[in-house]
Amino acid sequence: MFQQPVYLDNNATTACDPRVVETMLPYFSQLYGNAASRSHAYGWAAAEAVDYAREQVASLVGAVKQEIIFTSGATEAINLAIKGVYEMYAGKGNHIITVSTEHKAVLDTCSHLARKGASITWLPVKADGLIDLHELEAAITPKTILVCVMYANNETGVIQPVEEISAIARKHQVIFMSDATQAVGKIPVNVQTSGIDLLALSAHKFYGPKGVGALYVRRKDPRVRLAAQLDGGGHERGMRSGTLNVPGIVGLGKASELAMMEMEEDIKRILPLRDKLENALLQLEQTYRNGHPVHRLPHTCNLSFSYLESEVLMMTFNKKIALSSGSACTSASMEPSHVLKAMGLSDEMAYASLRFGLSRFTTEEEIDFAIQTMIEGVNELRNRSIAWELYKDSLS
Ligand SMILES: *Cc1c(COP(=O)(O)O)cnc(C)c1O
Repeated sequence: MFQQPVYLDNNATTACDPRVVETMLPYFSQLYGNAASRSHAYGWAAAEAVDYAREQVASLVGAVKQEIIFTSGATEAINLAIKGVYEMYAGKGNHIITVSTEHKAVLDTCSHLARKGASITWLPVKADGLIDLHELEAAITPKTILVCVMYANNETGVIQPVEEISAIARKHQVIFMSDATQAVGKIPVNVQTSGIDLLALSAHKFYGPKGVGALYVRRKDPRVRLAAQLDGGGHERGMRSGTLNVPGIVGLGKASELAMMEMEEDIKRILPLRDKLENALLQLEQTYRNGHPVHRLPHTCNLSFSYLESEVLMMTFNKKIALSSGSACTSASMEPSHVLKAMGLSDEMAYASLRFGLSRFTTEEEIDFAIQTMIEGVNELRNRSIAWELYKDSLS
């Protein structure tokens, strides 16, 4: 047994790496200057630290530092990208293409713009979670100003074909924005080779602190322009006013540097653990994997266990494993996951799903414990289920 529940909810957030915390600490009470203060050493030290972090983040995604805008996280970066493009390119058109399996930050921003007169195409996905590239190209019109497709899905880990998407967007001279919050720091992401024009990322999804992220904004071929969404001191080259969160930005920079150095090793260790967990659980009867088996993040696995409800299953072991179902908790009612529904799952199957997110810190002992706990929980609940009994009867 472990002292605390085994944490397998790393797609919701990750632990901040102790090396990141250590790098941040001096910027709270010693080097606490405002990075915009130009007249003294405190300001210079802060500005220098921000500049260094900007280089670290830029090199993680293959950008140059002038293309990185610091924000309070991916949600803000996504809002700035989509609303910023919508306002700036209003003269060209009002049509945005996105996908039904996007994160709420994208879906709700697009719905918001739809109420203001935007025309939104919500592309469906195939059963494996991937979009159909022909459907994407067919949806483009002369009024299309933005294609917005996430890099990797937060519930299933499914990785979209970003290079092909960017080729289509470029052919039609449409800006391509990608929410890469789950991909950056976990798998190699490069804005040059992938041809992404706007990319959102968040520190707390890859062992950095919460409340800080960035938007990559392409400067050349094409130069992407954005309408600022916050008015104020004109920080971040006028695109995002507000005093910079210096400790947070330093932490994001350090997390980026660690990801560059350790990503390959992390994947080599995490992938076999994910596969061990997945293969063991797929041995259970009537258990299915959601999402493309190959085009998928190495640390994510989403499974459906027929004849039970994941919320009930989690209650049987939530002191032992910290997990999340695919479903998003919307106020009082539990909605089935819009991602799994878009992939064609029934409400029942969507409610029977769990998402496992591993991390740099996940150990083999934890995975062995999770496998054992999961198998016990599933068997116990099914043994009490009338639906399961009827199903078993129907087999004999
Ligand atoms: C977590 C997440 C977000 C939101 O990021 P914040 O920094 O918490 O605002 C957006 N998109 C995806 C895919 C995510 O996983």
